[in-house]
Amino acid sequence: MEIILFLLGAMMGSAANALIDRLPRNESWVSGRSHCDKCKHVLNWYDLLPVFSYLLVKGKCRYCKSPIPPRNLLVEMFLGLAFIVFPGNFQL
Ligand SMILES: [Zn+2]
Repeated sequence: MEIILFLLGAMMGSAANALIDRLPRNESWVSGRSHCDKCKHVLNWYDLLPVFSYLLVKGKCRYCKSPIPPRNLLVEMFLGLAFIVFPGNFQL
């Protein structure tokens, strides 16, 4: 159960990261797919798994090897843990 809560939180974190990244640039965050900042490579679903993808590619873009800001991982982990610690707050 904790795993599911963590994944839920991590997915929220992922969405939050997309927001943080795109809002300042006035990019739409509901349409359009995530891409690498450096090489503009559109990311596949397996590049977008919260936390796990980051660990899998060791914090680097799979295609151009440029480092991914650790903030992405931190936000995902933080929200994932928050969901475990405060599950009542997030129940629908
Ligand atoms: Zn890249």
